[in-house]
Amino acid sequence: MSMIEATGLTKRFGETVVLDGVDLTVDKGEVVAVIGPSGSGKTTLLRLLNCLETPDGGSIRVGAITVEGDRPLSRQKAAVRALRQHVGFVFQTFNLFPHRTALGNVTEGPVVVKGSSRAEAEQKGRDVLTRVGLAEKADAYPASLSGGQQQRVAIARALAMEPDVLLFDEPTSALDPELVGEVLAVIRGLAAEHRTMVIVTHEMAFARDVADRVIFMEGGRIVEQGPAKPFFDNPQEQRTQRFLARLR
Ligand code: ADP
Repeated sequence: MSMIEATGLTKRFGETVVLDGVDLTVDKGEVVAVIGPSGSGKTTLLRLLNCLETPDGGSIRVGAITVEGDRPLSRQKAAVRALRQHVGFVFQTFNLFPHRTALGNVTEGPVVVKGSSRAEAEQKGRDVLTRVGLAEKADAYPASLSGGQQQRVAIARALAMEPDVLLFDEPTSALDPELVGEVLAVIRGLAAEHRTMVIVTHEMAFARDVADRVIFMEGGRIVEQGPAKPFFDNPQEQRTQRFLARLR
């Protein structure tokens, strides 16, 4: 059974249809990159997968948990909570708690949401900080860390919850160019472990390299998708060709 299955997802903001019936299936261990022009609905799709936005229609299944788009999320609280526990989300702008240390940031979820003991959460927290190369920054506050380090703490925070799925929303687009590589290296390592991931990105070389499958969105729809290398080497749809040509 697939890990993620979104069916007929629609989302409107006012009169604007932002997602227009998107179907998305992601297998366990698959790495999917989502690309497309600004405003095409990539971030909205990702946020829907984590119930950060309410769909207007369709359904989302992650693992064994299903959320229906035609019922208010407020009536599906248990499912939403359960789904979020299985999904880690990494934001473009890190969203760390500014008044907590790196270790404080990565222990918060396990203690508050999962009910882990503080000792257990700290042990796990140090492990995940080591995993992203920041063991020595456990006691540092976000403001004293570079953007790349903050984003790595954010990834560690997601990992600390031991999610089944990791969602990345343009994880490097808020970073100075010289800091992009260290974050991509961490994500590359996670891909090599065959974690299930969906990554919205503008880093095409990275997507080609790391993703099993690439999805191209435009106008709230999936225009084309396929295995990464053939997708980039030989895109089939004119709209994909035009988008990729503009980037060259
Ligand atoms: P992308 O990630 O591909 O750039 P988004 O999913 O961020 O696209 O946005 C798709 C469209 O939805 C855009 O036109 C954007 O302006 C609109 N949009 C996104 N979030 C909101 C919101 N909270 N309120 C109103 N419009 C929104």
